Amino acid sequence: MMDQPQSSRPWHAQPVEQVYDTLNCTSSGLSPPEVAERLARYGENRLPGVKPRPLWRRLLAQFQHVLIYILLVAATVTAVLGHWLDTSVILAVVVLQAVVGFIQEGRAEQALAAIRHMLAPKATVWRKGERQRIDAAELVPGDLLLLEAGDRVAADVRLDQVHGLKVDEALLTGESVAVDKSVEAQAEDAPLGDRLGMAYSGTLVRAGTARGIVVATGETTEIGRISGLLDTLTVLQTPLLEQMNRFAKYLSLVIVLAGAMVFIAGWLFGSRPPVELFMAVVALTVAAIPEGLPAILTITLAIGVRRMATRQAVVRRMPVIETLGAVSVICSDKTGTLTRNEMMVAAVVLAGREYPVSGDGYIVDGRIGDVAAEPPAPLLEPLAQAAVLCNDAQLEHKGDQIQVLGDPMEGALLVLAAKAGLDTKACSGQWPRVDEIPFDADLRYMATLHHDHQGHGVILLKGAPERLLTLCDSQLDEQGGVQPLRPEQWLQQVEILAEQGLRVLALARKPVAASQVVLASDDLASGVQLIGIVGLMDPPRQEAMEAIAECHQAGVRVKMITGDHALTARAIAARLGLRNTERVATGQELDGLDDQQLLALAQEVDVFARTSPEHKLRLVQALQSAHGVVAMTGDGVNDAPALKRADVGIAMGVKGSEAAREASDIVLLDDNFASIAAAVREGRTVYANLKKAISFLLPINGGEAASLVVALLIGLTLPITALQILWVNLVSSVVLAMGLAFEPAEPDVMRKPPRSARAAFLDSFLVWRIVLVSLLFLGGIFATFQWALHAGLGEGAARTLAVNTLVAMEVFYLFAVRYLDSPALTLRGVLGTPTVWIVVLAVTALQLAFTYSSPMQALFATESLGLWPLILAPLAGVVVLLVLELEKRVRRPDPRTGD
Ligand code: ATP
Repeated sequence: MMDQPQSSRPWHAQPVEQVYDTLNCTSSGLSPPEVAERLARYGENRLPGVKPRPLWRRLLAQFQHVLIYILLVAATVTAVLGHWLDTSVILAVVVLQAVVGFIQEGRAEQALAAIRHMLAPKATVWRKGERQRIDAAELVPGDLLLLEAGDRVAADVRLDQVHGLKVDEALLTGESVAVDKSVEAQAEDAPLGDRLGMAYSGTLVRAGTARGIVVATGETTEIGRISGLLDTLTVLQTPLLEQMNRFAKYLSLVIVLAGAMVFIAGWLFGSRPPVELFMAVVALTVAAIPEGLPAILTITLAIGVRRMATRQAVVRRMPVIETLGAVSVICSDKTGTLTRNEMMVAAVVLAGREYPVSGDGYIVDGRIGDVAAEPPAPLLEPLAQAAVLCNDAQLEHKGDQIQVLGDPMEGALLVLAAKAGLDTKACSGQWPRVDEIPFDADLRYMATLHHDHQGHGVILLKGAPERLLTLCDSQLDEQGGVQPLRPEQWLQQVEILAEQGLRVLALARKPVAASQVVLASDDLASGVQLIGIVGLMDPPRQEAMEAIAECHQAGVRVKMITGDHALTARAIAARLGLRNTERVATGQELDGLDDQQLLALAQEVDVFARTSPEHKLRLVQALQSAHGVVAMTGDGVNDAPALKRADVGIAMGVKGSEAAREASDIVLLDDNFASIAAAVREGRTVYANLKKAISFLLPINGGEAASLVVALLIGLTLPITALQILWVNLVSSVVLAMGLAFEPAEPDVMRKPPRSARAAFLDSFLVWRIVLVSLLFLGGIFATFQWALHAGLGEGAARTLAVNTLVAMEVFYLFAVRYLDSPALTLRGVLGTPTVWIVVLAVTALQLAFTYSSPMQALFATESLGLWPLILAPLAGVVVLLVLELEKRVRRPDPRTGD
């Protein structure tokens, strides 16, 4: 552990100034060299993660597998019998299987580690007089950490400014009621829960805002001392995979028992010598166990997770991948998800008149009003002042680019103030903020208290117009004087702006005495003057429109749930191409409904406005009870319950709070609706690929096992030996199945309705398919083996042919299985993908080596084949493909739903 700043008295007992002194920092924050120096001295702000399993244990775990046990028994028996060659091949297979499993697991763990890295927590700090968003790992003692609702506190801090801060410290104290924080120093012996002047790493900000001086980072924080185990280890596991693993395990046990019984029965009643019988039973067990299946499924899943990450959707909980493919309703936020969240004020209304605002984005060139209408000068100043001071954003110039640090809407207000001719920097310096009521989605406004240096005080407000109109009792007239408020007139103006799709915001003020230093909501009970309203443009995202159209085609209903005004929401929804935009339901309307009424409304309406996070939870529940599989987006701390409740909870990575991220299944790195549609598409693809992998691998085992059972039953020579079966199952089949894991989406994947969430995975179709293909494989193996014997080829050559036939049938079946429902014999189907051709070429090369190279011949008892017998193998494959195409055609009059 690196050393940490020392202090004679505990931090919570020191006044703030003393903490600044001890840590050698100031209220304007650290400079970059200071940060670098402290980072080197104190180390990164990280808790040691869960220790990865040591390599040897991971390797050892690979040997805990039924197949390996069977192989080890077989190796022992063959060794006792002196069949050294068999023993060494079997042992080689054991080692190979373990090494491959080991490597695969390592890669899966790497994939997960990469994802975890993408979700590294962030923190907002005040450095050199500026807000900055940094990786929480870069926090150092002496940094000023800014906190707001929804943040997970990233280090231990001594609070030096708080505004209504409530912190949930359950993680440390077990107390689930959020604690009201203050800046006061506490008694030295105060227990952790009573140290009101501190906020501790790992605790959650429920409400309010604050600034604190970082006093401890990494392992020296309180949470670091208790344990280093914040980082939970995710595993690549989903319900389907669990089900398949369990299935494989039980199947293996049943097969082993069946094998033992066959051995005993054969010994007692049959004519085969025990040694041969034993090898036959080993072959049977090896043949019937789907060894490659779990590995292939895990890889398919890992590839899906990676693909989603490249489409900006990071999966936090693996099971969601399966759920995604069944999503039937997506409930999305508006601002930033469906719209670009690059705002610009397009109009202002002052003293009852509307004035256009010209300009482009965050560039300050532009003006308020035009030749036809100049805004009254006495109103511009209060408007600009409120826009700048009741504001937490900053504009940052990076070369030609202007970026907003903070809320884009607030960024647009800074630009508006500059267009009104205000020197925004000077204004902020002249009117420092003394106290504030932070913005809260339930309140829908924020207010700040300021003093200038000449003994004046003012409260400034901005927020949703309906809300501010209830707070104001007067308005400013054209000369800057005060007159009684005319709410109806304002509401009309609001509607005019909102109908154009503009986001409407009202600005107000209240002059107060300089002696007032604390701001509470009671102070807004009277005397608040409305300055004016502004209309902000936030254009819909082009890609969101396309994604919505794609979702509709895919039978997925898209609903918009926004905090914005009903008319704004409707105008934007119509532009985006949402279905039912005529009817907009507001949060207030939802409040008056019982659960039954809500159920009907939730299904019918697609646009919900002026909603609070609580409405989201009710809507999710209603849609779910109507059998919908619901994906829901959210960003605020209060969205967490809805995100948890939704089948797929989606948090915003950019503007979302840590609380929302932690409650979600998926985090969108770009906050973009199009990424949700892409995730649904990937979810459907992964599910289809899992299904394809299973329907590809199971019949191979079925066919092999069936041919051995038939041979044993009618007393014929075994067409394939145990070692050859191992070769097919562990080499040829696995290589081919890898091709399926990389399979891209089928072209019509987003043109089908979502699969029913209640449908069983191994449905009757899949079972029928597995049985049919098993029988085809059985036929192929037997037919070629018997033909070869009759053609006088000898047992070794006949077996070689049978194995090659099986593998050739697999290759052709691979093409058939790529399209479970639609014809595979299309140009696109035949051309395949590069991956498919790579695996086919690899398997062909492996089979040629298996047949013709002398070391392999020695190992697997194979023999070289002439051209004519060898041709039979692909022919059998063609037959499989044709039969399956025929079967698809017979089945097609009854088009299947789902994938
Ligand atoms: P969405 O839920 O689609 O993201 P939204 O951003 O409009 O939409 P909220 O953030 O809940 O939803 O905001 C609701 C309303 O509160 C806004 O329409 C606006 O009138 C007001 N508002 C939003 N941000 C602020 C702010 N920083 N200061 C004052 N008022 C705000």
